[in-house]
Amino acid sequence: MENFSTIAAISTPLGIGGISIIRMSGKESLKIAESVFKSKQSLKPRVMTLGDFDARDFKEKCLCVYFKAPYSFTGEDMIEFQCHGGVAITNGILQSLLDNGAMLASPGEFTKRAFINGKMNLSQAEGMMDMINAESDAEIRAGYTLLNGELAKKVKKYQEMLTDLISEIEVSFDYPENDYELDVQKKIKCTLKEIKKGLEDLIATENKGKVIKDGVNVLIIGKPNVGKSSLLNALINEEKAIVTSTAGTTRDVIESKYIFNGIKFNIYDTAGLRQTEDEIENIGIEKAKKLIDSADIILRVIDDVNKRETLEDEFINKLLDGKKYYIIKNKIDLEPTRSNADFYISAKTNAGIEELKQGIYDIVFNEKVNENALVITNKRHLEILKKVKKYIENALENVGNITLDVVSIDINLSWQALGEITGDTSNETILDEIFSKFCLGK
Ligand code: GDP
Repeated sequence: MENFSTIAAISTPLGIGGISIIRMSGKESLKIAESVFKSKQSLKPRVMTLGDFDARDFKEKCLCVYFKAPYSFTGEDMIEFQCHGGVAITNGILQSLLDNGAMLASPGEFTKRAFINGKMNLSQAEGMMDMINAESDAEIRAGYTLLNGELAKKVKKYQEMLTDLISEIEVSFDYPENDYELDVQKKIKCTLKEIKKGLEDLIATENKGKVIKDGVNVLIIGKPNVGKSSLLNALINEEKAIVTSTAGTTRDVIESKYIFNGIKFNIYDTAGLRQTEDEIENIGIEKAKKLIDSADIILRVIDDVNKRETLEDEFINKLLDGKKYYIIKNKIDLEPTRSNADFYISAKTNAGIEELKQGIYDIVFNEKVNENALVITNKRHLEILKKVKKYIENALENVGNITLDVVSIDINLSWQALGEITGDTSNETILDEIFSKFCLGK
């Protein structure tokens, strides 16, 4: 274990609540804790002890847990104080620990120590952070799979297979007979093809991963006053967009989200779409054009199926030219026409809203996305997997055409690159960059 200074940080969000947790990690943790925390019992590993925390300006009755190295989150000696959840109490306890020799932890520093001390690999740490940042069940599940080490297991298996190949190649140099080399070539091809197939399967989850991480982009478009803002409100169940009966009041693009079946849907309500001299509305229209291009699904709201086409309809037709969209007939409470639309709703009474949500889900997902299978949601992992696939393809092309020492270069590069996923071969700068994005106290 490396000899780091003892660090401390507040691990719960700072605010008023039931309890707050302040953590400390490092060699001096127990000594510092004992200098400020007084109890009838001495601190025993993994036992919660009630006592008085003696801060300089106040006393606090709180709980303290000691985790003895290496059986702690960081692998070092750790102390956790659970105090009453108040801002001044929490800050005061942290300040006392700092006054008694602890250093303030930087973001992600506890996790970085856990990584350095072999408690978790880099992809597991990233999975844990994904879970903390998750906004939907699907994100939590993807994070959990990573934290559970599913990706790391695959990576390690491929690395072992590559190590075998490298040693086979090295042995083959000592046996220059042709037959032996042909055997080794066959084995290399077979193993590399297996790894390539595995990498392709992982890379194929890219779109699913993107949906889990970023959500599905749903765009609401339509003439002024058809009920776009009302539909957005009905979908998200709160008053986010301003609903009025004056055309063109939703001036800018409004973004919001809802969760359905554990998946995040990002809703964009476009400005009251029409050609206009009004500068603000034009900005909205430009944005709408961009949103049309990046939308996964477009909902075109109408409030009267049978009305004649107006210039505004033509304008929207032009914007949506060549794009797939779904027609949502709104205001069925006023006029229950049943023709030509994909969905029938009333944003006012909420009629048809649940069916619309289910419909959007079914359109986007023709398969279940909620299973616990390994899905690549992290761009960094995806880029590495693609890079490794290229090295493997190069190696496969070269086997039989170029000498095996050249082939082994790509095999070695693949091994190295795979290690960046688990952090085994990552340099300090990359590690710092990744951990600095973690939250304070984690
Ligand atoms: P937008 O300009 O397309 O965003 O339209 P709004 O959402 O601002 O709605 C325009 C007007 O239509 C408002 O007065 C809403 O109350 C009304 N409205 C919206 N949806 C419905 C609906 O389903 N039924 C009825 N009766 N009125 C609605």
